[in-house]
Amino acid sequence: MTLLLGCIADDFTGATDLANNLVRAGMRVVQSIGVPCGPVDEGVDAVVVALKSRTIAPREAVAQSLHALQWLRSQGTAGRAVQIYFKYCSTFDSTPQGNIGPVTEALMQALDCDFTIATPAFPDNQRTVFKGHLFVGEQLLSDSGMRSHPLTPMTDANLVRVLQAQTRRKVGLIDHVAVAAGEAAIRARIAALRAEGVGIAIVDAVSNDDLLRLGPALAGMPLVTAGSGVAIALPANFGLQPTPQAAALPPAVGLQAVVSGSCSVATRAQVAHFIASGRPALALDPLRLAAGEDEAGRALAWAGQHLASGPVLVYSTAESSAVQAVQARLGVEQAGALVEQALAAVAKGLAGMGVRQLVVAGGETSGACVQALQIAQMRIGPQIDPGVPWCHAASPVAPQGLHITLKSGNFGTADFFTKAFAALAVTH
Ligand code: ADP
Repeated sequence: MTLLLGCIADDFTGATDLANNLVRAGMRVVQSIGVPCGPVDEGVDAVVVALKSRTIAPREAVAQSLHALQWLRSQGTAGRAVQIYFKYCSTFDSTPQGNIGPVTEALMQALDCDFTIATPAFPDNQRTVFKGHLFVGEQLLSDSGMRSHPLTPMTDANLVRVLQAQTRRKVGLIDHVAVAAGEAAIRARIAALRAEGVGIAIVDAVSNDDLLRLGPALAGMPLVTAGSGVAIALPANFGLQPTPQAAALPPAVGLQAVVSGSCSVATRAQVAHFIASGRPALALDPLRLAAGEDEAGRALAWAGQHLASGPVLVYSTAESSAVQAVQARLGVEQAGALVEQALAAVAKGLAGMGVRQLVVAGGETSGACVQALQIAQMRIGPQIDPGVPWCHAASPVAPQGLHITLKSGNFGTADFFTKAFAALAVTH
């Protein structure tokens, strides 16, 4: 068993984001949907356990995270503990109660560890931390759109204060002066904070260079808590360097399809681009779904006529006015669930028809499709666009496995749907 890093991510697409960064820095990574039942595959350096614990009750988030921790620790080699990485959002999404604080605290206790760091910095994605304050692009977190997030409104950019409100451990700061001075200065700052009784330190980082200077100081730390940014600097601590081998997947085979339930701006452009390129595309009609018509069956019959000549697209993607009209008729949740279930049935049906290269657009849509395909684990492969890698997964519908990529709404360039298949062909 060679597991070096065990990661616990508080949501699904965040887990993929983390896994993608680890692969690019040289680790071979498997993402697991929930806590795995069996042992880790041979030849895997890191496992990312994807939970859905960001906004559930703190007690439940702690229980799920400790369950994941127990499994990850059981995969370690005798004599070498698996380093644990608790991954949260780069905008530090949390409610006043948590769950970043309570989960960090519980993991520290379980690992018998009296110090860890916390930093959502992800400079590649315009998330930077300076003097303990989180910036989203040019704005303080509290001035950004996160201010009015429906589930986790973030109205304070001072992360020391935000985290202190969620934990009994004393929260401190490793500021940019220490980070800029490198490993020795960071270690000295950690020693000083520990002497003051600080248990968790927010870390400033405004560039990838800052993260790369921080990385060596985290070697041997039992628990690291962060967004996905810190991941770029950890594989080097285990002697790993970036290599295409880390992203190697089995050869791509079979038919190609795209299923899109995202109505985000980037996805709408991608759907329009695919259609404009003259490829076959079929729209599902939510109102016909609500009327009980077999839209999934209609889509699959249609796909059967086109799949042999190249990728097909089945989508519910629509302009916001059309989505709002449907939501007004059906209710927001009911409309979402109905469309997700139909697209998930389409994804499963397509796999049953021999599709082995599947692009799914939309975070919630991805969750529904992965569930319908009964995918438990995904091996993370090469990046198509920032934050979106190809993956390979086994499914009862595709026992030899299929290539799948899960694109969250606003990721990817306009030509993503065609570029993705081209990337797979080039890789192999
Ligand atoms: P994103 O990653 O862009 O947020 P998601 O898949 O997470 O995409 O969310 C999109 C939501 O919108 C899903 O619940 C989906 O079922 C729903 N949806 C998709 N198309 C339509 C539509 N035409 N009308 C109403 N709701 C839709």
